[in-house]
Amino acid sequence: MRLDVVSIFPDYLAPLDLSLIGKARRDGLVDLRVHDLRDFTHDRHRTVDDTPYGGGAGMVMKPQPWSEALDHVLGTADDASGPAPVLVVPGPGGQRFDQATARELARAPWLAFACGRYEGIDERVYEWAAQRMEVRVLSLGDYVLNGGEVAVLAMTEAVVRLLPGVVGNAESLVEESHEGGLLEYPIYTKPSVWQDGDGVTRAVPDVLLSGDHARIAAWRHEQRLERTAARRPDLLAAAATAGALADLDAS
Ligand code: SAM
Repeated sequence: MRLDVVSIFPDYLAPLDLSLIGKARRDGLVDLRVHDLRDFTHDRHRTVDDTPYGGGAGMVMKPQPWSEALDHVLGTADDASGPAPVLVVPGPGGQRFDQATARELARAPWLAFACGRYEGIDERVYEWAAQRMEVRVLSLGDYVLNGGEVAVLAMTEAVVRLLPGVVGNAESLVEESHEGGLLEYPIYTKPSVWQDGDGVTRAVPDVLLSGDHARIAAWRHEQRLERTAARRPDLLAAAATAGALADLDAS
């Protein structure tokens, strides 16, 4: 998969060199290119923002550096990437980014991310871009960040870990929270009995030590339902509507 990120803080994306994403890059599964928006300005101060028309607080990102930066990205299309990326513009006013969106984006051969700062990007850039590529405005959640870079780190990690070969055991992706509409069951590791710092003995549920795979599967399913009902009843309602619970019960 090809990924391009345009930002005024390219160093913000440095963590994409670490851990599984870093390994995916080194293994050639991901071709990640970070671009400095200021390289597409033409004044001495490398200006990317100006005051908003109509008044109001804050600054707005100017259209010209964005069109030149994105034109540059489009100009690097190759046979593997296809003619144009899906352009993801993170923003609190976008559709909520979730696991289903991550799966959709993971099917694209090429994604580009436009990281806004200040009050965001001049609206005409969205129109300009939509005539050249698919544009998705996606929100990480109902809160406001200072810039798109943190959102790109989160979205990139969620997407890239779904690519074949990135996560060692592909089965671990299937059992996770938000796959199949429910949260994951509680998980435990050794020792089976742990004495905490207060002297309280805490044991792993017996069923997990039983070796009875059918009982363990039934217990885990119960736990997923209980946990989802307690923490995210909205997900349970959505799964029931979609008929996903019946599918899970049958499995
Ligand atoms: N004025 C904008 C509004 O009210 O919708 C908020 C701008 S915010 C201060 C600056 C940048 O942070 C945005 O352009 C976007 O790139 C990013 N951002 C902020 N909150 C976000 C969120 N919840 N999800 C994704 N990106 C976000």
